[in-house]
Amino acid sequence: MKYDYLIVGSGLFGATFANLAKKDGKKVLVIEKRNHIGGNIYTENIEGINVHKYGAHIFHTDYKDVWDYVNSFVEFNRYTNSPMARIGDEIYNMPFNMNTFSKIWNDVFTPTDALRHINEEKKEMAGKEPQNLEEQAISLVGRTIYEKLIKGYTEKQWNRDCKDLPAFIIKRLPVRLIYDNNYFNDKYQGIPIGGYTKLVEKMLDGIELKLNTNFFDDVEKYKKIATKIVYTGPLDEYFNYCLGKLEWRSLKFDTKVLNETNYQGNAVVNYTGHEVEYTRVIEHKHFEFDMESPKTVITFEYPCDYEDGMEKYYTLNDSKNEELALKYKKLEENEKNVIFGGRLAEYKYYDMDDVIKSAMTCYNTELD
Ligand code: FAD
Ligand code: UDP
Repeated sequence: MKYDYLIVGSGLFGATFANLAKKDGKKVLVIEKRNHIGGNIYTENIEGINVHKYGAHIFHTDYKDVWDYVNSFVEFNRYTNSPMARIGDEIYNMPFNMNTFSKIWNDVFTPTDALRHINEEKKEMAGKEPQNLEEQAISLVGRTIYEKLIKGYTEKQWNRDCKDLPAFIIKRLPVRLIYDNNYFNDKYQGIPIGGYTKLVEKMLDGIELKLNTNFFDDVEKYKKIATKIVYTGPLDEYFNYCLGKLEWRSLKFDTKVLNETNYQGNAVVNYTGHEVEYTRVIEHKHFEFDMESPKTVITFEYPCDYEDGMEKYYTLNDSKNEELALKYKKLEENEKNVIFGGRLAEYKYYDMDDVIKSAMTCYNTELD
């Protein structure tokens, strides 16, 4: 065999696995069907600004080893995600915290004031266990905030009524009784200075890489050239959709270069109402505190159903898709020399740090 590992996909899972194997002296080939490395964290320099081509990516983690690992390649800045939320002619701080509550209700100054309103509004859920996202949201923050900041955004994001969505989606959002706009609770957070592509370039340094190369164009050849395959593409595609297709949500991005220095004053502004179809507007220069560039690059993000030829962004973790994914995972038992890893191959919503952690664990299991 020419290689110890053939890695299918140069996203974070593939790049981490390849990097660890290379450090151990293994022979590694990475193939990537796109014309660039990095998977969905790819950033492209436009007008001197690092543009997050596949959506805003903020690195945040509680894993010290993962933080040290990424910082061994590039320096991270002190970016803290603090999105704003716009609805009609109103604007609020996210996530839900004292800054949000004091603007929603003009008699709120203290946590006690906020709780008075929230608890009053939560009464409609008294004695009921939340059965869906709407009920979960109301029992967390009450109906006013649900209708202004959650309902529209969520229905645009998932194209379903909040009553038909699982409660767990909204549990990811923090609710804080302090004046703190940090979207994440993790210990470490930041953006790689110079963009994510630089991070992945460093991870893949010295590793043989073939871009514009699709594994499925010659599976038999690829199976013969390496002892093991690390597959990070879609789970169902590996098995030629033999049990049916898994469902995904996709996104459309509309990116514009503007002749102004500062369009919205923040990297991320969520649009939480149905009056516009997009969910977010990203102003990329603010991820790196760039107030020097004479221009700015902004991206409107439109959620949509996945259709052939689009990118697969979000898994649809309802029971139907979870069951199908499990059936595919059973088939993996017949593929002894293939490791399935990452967001697409595991059909799992992973943050970047979890993907790195999972690739590290996977590689260490290999060593054992
Ligand atoms: P991918 O990045 O999808 O990489 C898989 C690679 O495999 C791709 O490059 C693909 O082209 C390649 N490939 C697939 N099939 C083949 C084939 N047949 N042959 C060759 N190559 C193939 N996480 C955070 O921590 N913070 C955030 O703020 C954040 N924001 C996000 C925003 C959006 C809109 C989305 C969609 C995700 C976000 N994430 C965020 C999650 C993050 O993008 C993922 O955790 C991470 O990129 C997953 O890496 P991966 O290697 O598993 O997959
Ligand atoms: N959400 C919301 N309003 C917002 C932002 C998020 O209601 O302004 C909800 C929405 O249901 C979304 C969920 O919170 O699906 C998780 O959002 P987050 O930004 O954490 O997830 P991501 O889109 O990055 O997966």
